[in-house]
Amino acid sequence: MNILISALGATPDIIEETIGIFNYNENVEFYQGNTTVKALRNDLERVDEVWLVATDQKHKDLSNGKQILSLQESFDYICRNCAQYNVHIRIFVLDGVDDIVNEDDARAFHDLLLRVVAYAHQQNVGGKLYLSLACGRKTMSTDMQDAAYIFGCDNLLHVLGDNKEASHPMLMGSVTPNEAIRVQNVEFDSDLVLRCKPSTSFLNDVEEQKQQSQHFFTSYYLNEKETRSNFHILYTLPPSEIARLKNSILGINKEKQAEEIEWLRQLPKTDLHCHLGGVLYPIDMIEVAECYIPKIEEELQYNRAYSDWVNQLKQGPTALLRKVESWKEWLNNKSKELEVEKGLITASIILTYKNNAEELGKLIFKNYWESECDYKQIGINTYEGLGDLQGSALLCNEAAIRRTVNKLTDRCRKENVKYLEVRCSPNNYENKSTGLSPDKILLAICEELNKAEELTSSLLIIASRHGAEEKIKHSIELVQRLKGNELFRKYFRGFDLAGDESAKAAKDVRVQFLEIMKECYNITIHAGETMPSESIWEAVYYLSAERIGHGLKLLESKELMDKLLERGIGIEMCPSSNYQIVGYCDNYYPNETYSLNKYPIKSYLEKGLRVSINTDDPGISLTDCTHELHKAARMTKGGLSKWDILQLICNGFRTAFFPYEKKKSLIRETEKDLGELIAKGKL
Ligand SMILES: [Zn+2]
Repeated sequence: MNILISALGATPDIIEETIGIFNYNENVEFYQGNTTVKALRNDLERVDEVWLVATDQKHKDLSNGKQILSLQESFDYICRNCAQYNVHIRIFVLDGVDDIVNEDDARAFHDLLLRVVAYAHQQNVGGKLYLSLACGRKTMSTDMQDAAYIFGCDNLLHVLGDNKEASHPMLMGSVTPNEAIRVQNVEFDSDLVLRCKPSTSFLNDVEEQKQQSQHFFTSYYLNEKETRSNFHILYTLPPSEIARLKNSILGINKEKQAEEIEWLRQLPKTDLHCHLGGVLYPIDMIEVAECYIPKIEEELQYNRAYSDWVNQLKQGPTALLRKVESWKEWLNNKSKELEVEKGLITASIILTYKNNAEELGKLIFKNYWESECDYKQIGINTYEGLGDLQGSALLCNEAAIRRTVNKLTDRCRKENVKYLEVRCSPNNYENKSTGLSPDKILLAICEELNKAEELTSSLLIIASRHGAEEKIKHSIELVQRLKGNELFRKYFRGFDLAGDESAKAAKDVRVQFLEIMKECYNITIHAGETMPSESIWEAVYYLSAERIGHGLKLLESKELMDKLLERGIGIEMCPSSNYQIVGYCDNYYPNETYSLNKYPIKSYLEKGLRVSINTDDPGISLTDCTHELHKAARMTKGGLSKWDILQLICNGFRTAFFPYEKKKSLIRETEKDLGELIAKGKL
């Protein structure tokens, strides 16, 4: 339904003229030959209803022989003359107010007009709303314009010229609403001529909100002593809504878990710290292992020892495999013993659990599989060991790599992750026997990332701290070779230094990293996860880190923390991985974790550090982006507020390694997504 709203003044002719512009009819005499009206019709749709807002005017004979019609006479006149336009006409009358002669009358009329326009918005969802400035007293035109800028309209129209023949309509275009202003539902009876009691309460409410909306940002930023600004759209919310977001706490009440997870899932998110080698859940590992089936079948035909072993697995895999302590070593030995590449051994093991991902989970994670509480403080080496049946053991095959990327991007879509940065060590997946080179690996990853719709992503290459110098050199050469490839350039952003911090200090790879800096690639460094804050200092000062992976030890050095703040360095925290490797308190397990350290995230947020929440190795940590945000709240004493969560997400977008202009538009899109959630009342 399309609605036109106009005030009604002393000259009802103008109403007829205005309706004629919308529901233009070739046969109407006074618009014949008027080319302006004809041209405007392209921008307008026909209207179904015309709503007039009027004072309760009385009949008057004027001294010049003319007359002012009473309200009823005007209504009859308009209905008679507009019958040819096939519209439904309603009048909203300011009851008992004959004319606007003082401020009270003016405010009462303004109030009624705003209510009528708000009501039209509620009634014609999906239809067009047009507002006309042409009729009535000047104050009425001002009121109409005000209504347009508060509630928005599809077109604002004025009519110039003072008679039908010279009528010259002018369209002022659509007006977007002021989203800071939210009003209650408006109700009216359905009478054709509806008498409304004068009031100013609606107007007062709107005016108050309008005034607040003009300085929401400054007032909140200054009065609330915010250390870092959140998404800008949040500052357009009424103060009561901002207070609600700041007072809604997540992560303290176990009974609310499901509801909180749902709230988090709908939010647009980022994941800046995610290792491709650790993204697969047991159920995904089975699917990825299936990529090896053709090779397994080929091998079975001529490798007797391998085929005997596979048969043995089929008899009862669990007993045989449960005894394995370290998969890495075991896989290497088996591969040598059976003269089969490692990927086939890994895939064969996984595929014996083809229909039982649960058992595979138990095989890998042992008692951690069923006890989230116990899966804590196990140290980095044990943690990495839990990923030994994926990563380089399973990804030395192009199809397997591609499927792994698909699994990851698919999960991102389900969790509403809008921006992903995936990092990998292509040299670890190289397979010389099949000609799978690091170059091919990176291009395959880029191709799969490129297929994921609605997901913006970037690729980082990991330089390992183990055997660092050589590997970094190879990685830089690799990037130099691929630099000319358009698809690679689209996704590649920079480097990460990962691995056991005690194995190699950041300062020892400075020379190699200078090459990376020369090319202006982005740099993030795993630091302060298991080693003291000095490791973070080295990453910042020796390697020019723009982001720090984990950065758990910053509270040890106030000076360093200040420096990170000044430089705007991002901190990628990964709560589950931090809980599992280092160990921190969790509100859900007060008795089991009370003696562990307090997670520093709230202190970082209060300081204004650009800290974000990420997954690290979701397949090893058994998590996803939604649950990581929740885990961050659980690991904070007193929980995190919805406002804090939005701040963490905002930090993720702002510290993304993404070209500046594109990042701005990505953030604008995210603000829009949040705007939709706000409009639906889901925030
Ligand atoms: Zn990591």
